[in-house]
Amino acid sequence: MTAATVGAPGVLQGVGVGRRAVVGPVAQVRSAPDVPPDAAVQVDGRPATPQETHAAVESAFAEVAESLRAQSAAAGGTVGDVLAATAQMAADNALRTQVLARVDAGEPPVAALDGVVDMFAAMFTQAGGYLAERVTDLRSVRDRVVARVLGLPDPGVPRLARPSVVVARDLAPADTAALDLENVLAIVTELGGPTGHTAIIAGQLGLPCVVRVTGATGLEDGVEVAVDAAAGTVTPHPGADLRAELDRRRAADELLTADTAPGATADGHAVALLANVGTPADAERLGGSGAEGVGLFRTEVLFLERTQAPTVEEQAEAYAAVLRALDGRKVVVRTLDAGADKPLAFATQPDEENPALGVRGYRLVRPHPELLRTQLEALARAQEATGTTPWVMAPMIATADEARDFAAQARAAGVATVGVMVEVPAVALRARDVLAEVDFVSLGTNDLAQYTMATDRLRGELADLLDAWQPAVLDLVAATAAAGVEAGKPVGVCGESASDPLMALVLVGLGVTSLSMAAGALPAVRYAVRRHTHERCVAMAAAARAARSAADGRAAVLALADPQVRATLGL
Ligand code: PEP
Ligand code: MG
Repeated sequence: MTAATVGAPGVLQGVGVGRRAVVGPVAQVRSAPDVPPDAAVQVDGRPATPQETHAAVESAFAEVAESLRAQSAAAGGTVGDVLAATAQMAADNALRTQVLARVDAGEPPVAALDGVVDMFAAMFTQAGGYLAERVTDLRSVRDRVVARVLGLPDPGVPRLARPSVVVARDLAPADTAALDLENVLAIVTELGGPTGHTAIIAGQLGLPCVVRVTGATGLEDGVEVAVDAAAGTVTPHPGADLRAELDRRRAADELLTADTAPGATADGHAVALLANVGTPADAERLGGSGAEGVGLFRTEVLFLERTQAPTVEEQAEAYAAVLRALDGRKVVVRTLDAGADKPLAFATQPDEENPALGVRGYRLVRPHPELLRTQLEALARAQEATGTTPWVMAPMIATADEARDFAAQARAAGVATVGVMVEVPAVALRARDVLAEVDFVSLGTNDLAQYTMATDRLRGELADLLDAWQPAVLDLVAATAAAGVEAGKPVGVCGESASDPLMALVLVGLGVTSLSMAAGALPAVRYAVRRHTHERCVAMAAAARAARSAADGRAAVLALADPQVRATLGL
């Protein structure tokens, strides 16, 4: 956070995505048409007959699906994928037929749509995780269909006549894709989470973004605001000091991005700086990012929409595309991490009371051994097709025996370098036994924090507990890294903590050998690592672990950081 913004009156606080900052005028996104539930459909200035109403609703669904499909094709990449998923929802048979059944029974179309959409939204919310995040898409389909049925303009983003900060209660992917990017400076929303669609798309587009900003929709159109993703703040009428600080940071960021040298401390201790990806398109965009490879390829991201397990052939094709994009650089492929916050229709166990503690990640090998078999075979085929050798690791390993079984199966399939993720405290505590079975480990600090602190990672209001700075979490990272040093095997970190420049120094000091993060976080982490000696990182790690709270630990580490780095990164 920056001294200029914290606690200042009128400053709106939210959750920042990334580190960038910008100043510009507000453009509020037009919300859904405000129409009564019994609004009548008109044809030629008279109320429509029941048949005409049925036809209007049916064609509205088709038109909305078609227009979203066209936007998806035009957008491509992650935005295109997200829009295709919204289009699929608009084309969904169950949604449309249930609305039509109610309309045919005499219910007004808006009331029928609201009833069915509310029912689906409740189902999605209860399912949690990824499905819960799709509720925004569902409501966006509802708003578009209502507008078409009643002959109103499509809701969404206004035409931007000048570069603006787009502010919305929530921004559906379809709205985000409709943005005139030339004129979008930043995105601010009242709802949404840092792992939701808006945040993912903003990250892909390199736009500063702050979500969960209470009061954002109360900002007047045209008012100048400073949006600071690093601080998670939106400041109306920014003063000269704040503007100057943001200008300075922007200039410094541009310089940081130009440096793509391999990761190393000031005294030359190498720390591989890697990127996290979810699709071949993500891997292709790594181009000039300076990523030395991929430290986490989340393969489940490819199949979130699927109801059937993907075939060996299609998986092999996707994995080969990522290997080709990295052109010989290291790629760590994670086997499917389905369940809990990442439910996959074809794999997740139904009716689990505590899915985060249930049959998720590697444990799916119990009910579905064929999923892992197929995936390892696909990986071996991708290796053969590209002549590049991937590393492979399993998520949610809890015991040395599981690590041994996974390694045996992966090696039998022809994948030579095998590791596991350290996400369960039991594995961190017994890292020596686990490392005896595999070639490397990678710390998933998102889940490690969740399980160490007994705190659901989806509950934003418990963020203080779910903090990788918690000394207990750092103790487990330290135990794992020490076991890695003893065994002479690599220990990486691929959770979000690797993307925090200050935490990255602590991780290096604890003995971690690689850091994997969203590509946008690489320049700041590289800069911080290059400006501290290994000895200083070790001292920072000791200070973080000596503290009795997360906040004290961070403050102690900050006091040991290079003043120039603090100023440049606004730490
Ligand atoms: C983690 O848990 O830190 C991790 C990298 O895996 P995911 O966020 O995909 O669960
Ligand atoms: Mg995880």
